[in-house]
Amino acid sequence: MFIDEAKVILKSGAGGHGCVSFRREKFIPKGGPDGGNGGKGGDVVLLCDRNEGDLQAYRWQPHRSARNGTPGMGRQCAGPDGEDLILRVPPGTQVVDDVSGRLLAELTEHNERVVILAGGKGGMGNMNFKSSVNQAPRRTTPGYPGEFGTYRLVLKTIADIGLVGYPNAGKSTLTNAFTAARPKMAPYPFTTLHVNVGVIEYPETFGRIFMADIPGLIEGAHENRGLGHQFLRHIERCTLLVFILDMAGSENRKPWDDFRILERELALYSPILARKPRLVVANKMDLPEAAANLAKFCEKVPVLVVPISCYSLEGFENLKATLWKFVKGSPEERALLQPTPVKVKAVKVKAVAKATKPAAKQPAKKAKAAPAKKSKPAAKPVAKKVVKKVAAKKSPKPVAKKPAAKKPVKVVAKKKAAPVKKAAVKTKAKKK
Ligand code: GDP
Ligand code: MG
Repeated sequence: MFIDEAKVILKSGAGGHGCVSFRREKFIPKGGPDGGNGGKGGDVVLLCDRNEGDLQAYRWQPHRSARNGTPGMGRQCAGPDGEDLILRVPPGTQVVDDVSGRLLAELTEHNERVVILAGGKGGMGNMNFKSSVNQAPRRTTPGYPGEFGTYRLVLKTIADIGLVGYPNAGKSTLTNAFTAARPKMAPYPFTTLHVNVGVIEYPETFGRIFMADIPGLIEGAHENRGLGHQFLRHIERCTLLVFILDMAGSENRKPWDDFRILERELALYSPILARKPRLVVANKMDLPEAAANLAKFCEKVPVLVVPISCYSLEGFENLKATLWKFVKGSPEERALLQPTPVKVKAVKVKAVAKATKPAAKQPAKKAKAAPAKKSKPAAKPVAKKVVKKVAAKKSPKPVAKKPAAKKPVKVVAKKKAAPVKKAAVKTKAKKK
């Protein structure tokens, strides 16, 4: 099982107490105080280790403590320090305070260390307190206690490329073909149940690109449909998002609809993902309907598209080269290829409209309407009135066409139509 989030209860070691002791030796009367200091308690340290795959170890064993320091001893011997507790975590792990929700640390580089909880200092033995006026002190200090806390470890995979797509689009097949990773692939949705990171090798330049295959997204993922948004955090750090679309349009879906739905789900998850550069990969070009769909798709959606087929291996070289340019190319090259993210605003508004559905009563058609501005409270009632009146009175000539029936007056027709419609409403009111 792949575990990417775990709660841990950590405790650092307490310091050892100082010791009371007096030197006792033959022929040395009143040898004086010789109690040593206590040792320091162990720290709790997180160590980033690229050989760790996930946070499974912490899920099953969440309580961890470092060792306490040993008390001081006679003959001026200090107690040994307590052993640090070293917790190995995979690169990309974030440490979040469970109580405040504050991000405390983030480990991304191999061998990076972060001390989460410091061990308590050791106490002082009585040898520290001798003076001319107190030559036999019995005074010591206790060791400081350790610290404790509850934290959440959250893994956000580090990869250059994140694959986004509907289930069965061919993400895992592509990962299998391009990298040595072997995610499960089969013709049923949600074959992939966790993140798989593969490395695309470029032997000519000794380069490598990390690619993350995540489980498929479906419409309503933000409402937790399918596997929901839970895996999207793994592509938050990617330089490039690659949308894999099934161009053959199986199950009566259309690739452009898939693309818009995916865009919307990303935008609903986070603006960071919505703004990332993206590349569309048109998969399954070996199937008969694909070519026609691709032509239509290019008309409808103005983004860069790379057609491929994981079966006939068509377009693989091109895709590999494009990915390199995007991810590792020179800044100029990357800027050239950078497509503008697609209409995130429109997408967001759609979502808002959807959310307000129940209140608006008139279902589908109204919710579909476009850019509602922020003046909602005023806009709503107006919209209702307009809809009613237009519906009741279809005759009064050309003025209010279909768009008027959809949404708030101000918004639908920004410049010309709006005043006309307002006038129409007023005249009707007067008549009444
Ligand atoms: P994922 O859910 O996106 O990871 O999809 P999978 O990689 O598991 O693939 C789903 C199905 O599509 C599998 O049965 C694949 O064999 C099939 N498939 C993947 N790529 C192609 C392709 O280029 N052409 C055809 N015809 N089928 C493909
Ligand atoms: Mg898969």
